[in-house]
Amino acid sequence: MRQRGKLEYGGPGVPQRTCVGCRGRTAKSELLRLVRVEGHVVPDLRGRLPGRGASLHPALSCLELAERRRAFPRAFRVPGPLDVSPVRAHLEEETHMSCRTPS
Ligand SMILES: [Zn+2]
Repeated sequence: MRQRGKLEYGGPGVPQRTCVGCRGRTAKSELLRLVRVEGHVVPDLRGRLPGRGASLHPALSCLELAERRRAFPRAFRVPGPLDVSPVRAHLEEETHMSCRTPS
């Protein structure tokens, strides 16, 4: 049986978070931090917004997984559904940026 030690991939000192979509553990720096602002989930791009955060891979597939699992209300400890369109818009923008060919 494999024991879950304190040292995971990335070694000591690398904070890890679990993606609320696919539940994969990844270095915090590679995940998008999300916070709740009233009924909306917004990306905390500078990591400065106060309050409880949730972590998500910056991928639409993980956002969709999180929505399907109703992971956001659970992560933010609220009973009702949350609007994730600000996160979706951000991810779609990023996707388009990476698709754009440099001139
Ligand atoms: Zn993920």
